Amino acid sequence: MKTANARREAIKTIQDREPVASTVDYVDSSLGEQFGANVFNRSVMRTLLPKNAYRSLIQCLDHGERLDASLAETVANAMKDWAISRGATHFTHWFQPMTGATAEKHDSFLQPGSDGEWLLEFPGKLLIQGEPDASSFPSGGIRSTFEARGYTGWDPTSPAFLIDSTNGKTLCIPTVFCAFSGHALDKKTPLLRSVEAVNKQSLRLLRLLGNTEAQRITCTVGAEQEYFLIDEAFYNLRPDLVNAGRCLFGAKPPKGQEMEDHYWGSIKDRVLAFMMDAENELYRLGVPVKTRHNEVAPAQFEVAPVFEQSNVATDHNMLLMEVFRRTAQKHNLRCLFHEKPFTGINGSGKHNNWSMMDDKGNNLLEPGHTPHEDKQFLVILTAVIRAVNKWARLLRATVAFAGNDHRLGANEAPPAIMSIYLGDTLGEVVDSIITGGVPEGSRVCKVMELGVSTLPTLPRDASDRNRTSPFAFTGNKFEFRAVGSSQSIAWPNTVLNTIVAESLDYITGRIEQAVKAGKPLNQAVQAVVKETLAENKRVIFNGDNYSEEWHKEAERRGLPNDCSTTESLPVLITPEARKLFSDYEVLNEEELVSRYNVQVEAYIKTINIEVLLTLSIANTMILPAALEYQNAVAKTMSNTHKALGQDIGASGKVYEKLLQDLCDKTARLKVSIDQLDVVSKEAEHGTDDLLEHAKFFQLKVLPAMNAVRAAADDLEGIVDDSMWTLPKFREILYIY
Ligand code: ADP
Ligand code: MG
Repeated sequence: MKTANARREAIKTIQDREPVASTVDYVDSSLGEQFGANVFNRSVMRTLLPKNAYRSLIQCLDHGERLDASLAETVANAMKDWAISRGATHFTHWFQPMTGATAEKHDSFLQPGSDGEWLLEFPGKLLIQGEPDASSFPSGGIRSTFEARGYTGWDPTSPAFLIDSTNGKTLCIPTVFCAFSGHALDKKTPLLRSVEAVNKQSLRLLRLLGNTEAQRITCTVGAEQEYFLIDEAFYNLRPDLVNAGRCLFGAKPPKGQEMEDHYWGSIKDRVLAFMMDAENELYRLGVPVKTRHNEVAPAQFEVAPVFEQSNVATDHNMLLMEVFRRTAQKHNLRCLFHEKPFTGINGSGKHNNWSMMDDKGNNLLEPGHTPHEDKQFLVILTAVIRAVNKWARLLRATVAFAGNDHRLGANEAPPAIMSIYLGDTLGEVVDSIITGGVPEGSRVCKVMELGVSTLPTLPRDASDRNRTSPFAFTGNKFEFRAVGSSQSIAWPNTVLNTIVAESLDYITGRIEQAVKAGKPLNQAVQAVVKETLAENKRVIFNGDNYSEEWHKEAERRGLPNDCSTTESLPVLITPEARKLFSDYEVLNEEELVSRYNVQVEAYIKTINIEVLLTLSIANTMILPAALEYQNAVAKTMSNTHKALGQDIGASGKVYEKLLQDLCDKTARLKVSIDQLDVVSKEAEHGTDDLLEHAKFFQLKVLPAMNAVRAAADDLEGIVDDSMWTLPKFREILYIY
């Protein structure tokens, strides 16, 4: 069969598909009963562990205390019995190397006994530590090749769970991953350290402000996940989607998102069947998925969980992506997490909702009811504003990678300029603190006196939300919207936590100083908040972040605008960044530099894969289709000439023009392919400097690749449809 016809076959296959039914039955077993069924959570531990052991474990979890070996033994044993009783045969340490994905290596519970018998065992030391070969994971230069060993270490703060696959279950134990030298090789270790930094600095502040209640502060995160869902019959016919996760070719569809008819539209049956199936597995894994809806672009959707503590939220987001990918295949669909699978329509992001919470469940970014609570809120708010202003480039660098370059800066996602949206009312409160006055017509009635006055009610309805801001205050949390849909949220949160810790430290120190100098506490707080807000207010912007004017205004304000990955990443290895991460014990210099190296290398590798794919698809799929059509037109013309005699008058000129146009466009494609081939070979040699190499890809290779695409997309518009082999956007995005 000719591949072009395979496209039509695919459409036929899809039309015959039915929604795939799962075995889920919420009548037999309610959502409440199924939720967390595959998790070794607190309630399971309470029933299975001896009372003392349970109490000690909770003490460790809630107060960050160390776990002793005998307790680990008891927990491991209970965990094993629980897992085996539910059908598990294997266990694995489950960790998050710097690839941005998760890693697992399974071991069965089988252990030889003393007299030739076989036992099912899971000793405490296997729970606490594993020793995987680290040599094939990216280390960014940390690990010398002769020392390939790495260690995984149990993270008891994220519960163990069972992965339920078609033919059995595996016990997964969330772990950290480090090198023999002790350097963190993963995304989770720094995240946990950054939460510790926030805990330390925020408790110091709270105590100073007279809060004696809170014992432990954690960061909370709710990650809204956008994704595309397409039929696998189309997917399999697109080598670019299969290998690069995005379409490297494809003309803009005649109908995009302009009708605004997809957002929150009714969900198609096949899609809903998939969503419910995936959600069921997530419920059983204890992932609190909450909302689902159609997103703005055709074939685009969103799922959002209820927020959790940041490291659990991170694990759960990784699990969510994994379960969505796997379940989609069961439904003959493919789930695309790439930031920009289809040029010309909206891409996907991951809104990272973030706040801080004490051990009593109080949200520290929730405006209070009393002057005292409002004081605490405003000081913390000030710390966050300062953090984002002072460390804007660092925050920007956490979302810098090839996929996200297609989004940030385009008019659909927040720009690369970091700014904060506070909303009108809170914005006016901030103004009144800075100026000591209240402008006419303001919603704020009097000057905010910290510790004395209360905040006006802050509107929290959707109309007050600014969808264009990269960092928006949404009532009782911040929403960092520049995060890419495919990336792990660990790194953005690690940096966010670290810069907030630094800022809390700064503010607390300033207030302490003022008090020591004899100022009453409230006055000291007022003065420090006022001064800090005044110094950092340039980062506050409530208007349209997509607008031309904002870009100019931001420049006037001196806000950084790192438009691309290569511009953005170097900030990670500046002396200021090195000092920041080591001061707060989140990453030492080697660990930080390794992350920079990994990010730059990932950029180079991503573009390189795309280039090789572009060349192969253009050479073997697009050029042949264009030539085939050219040949057909030429033949038709010559036959027509023959049949009608040499002179077919004016229409002859029209046919000639058609053929000429086709030849020109095909030639343009071929020339651009050859040019890409040349620069990509040049790029292979690389340079000693990693960043220079990445820039070569950005400045030389990418434009050459885009030129091939432009020529190919142009041809898509004129070549005989039956000869075009790649499924078109108008099909992929609409046919289910
Ligand atoms: P929207 O699409 O309007 O931004 P959603 O309801 O889809 O809002 O998502 C809001 C997300 O923010 C949810 O994941 C929610 O759990 C999370 N969230 C709410 N409160 C907090 C908080 N205190 N800390 C972190 N995340 C939060
Ligand atoms: Mg949102």
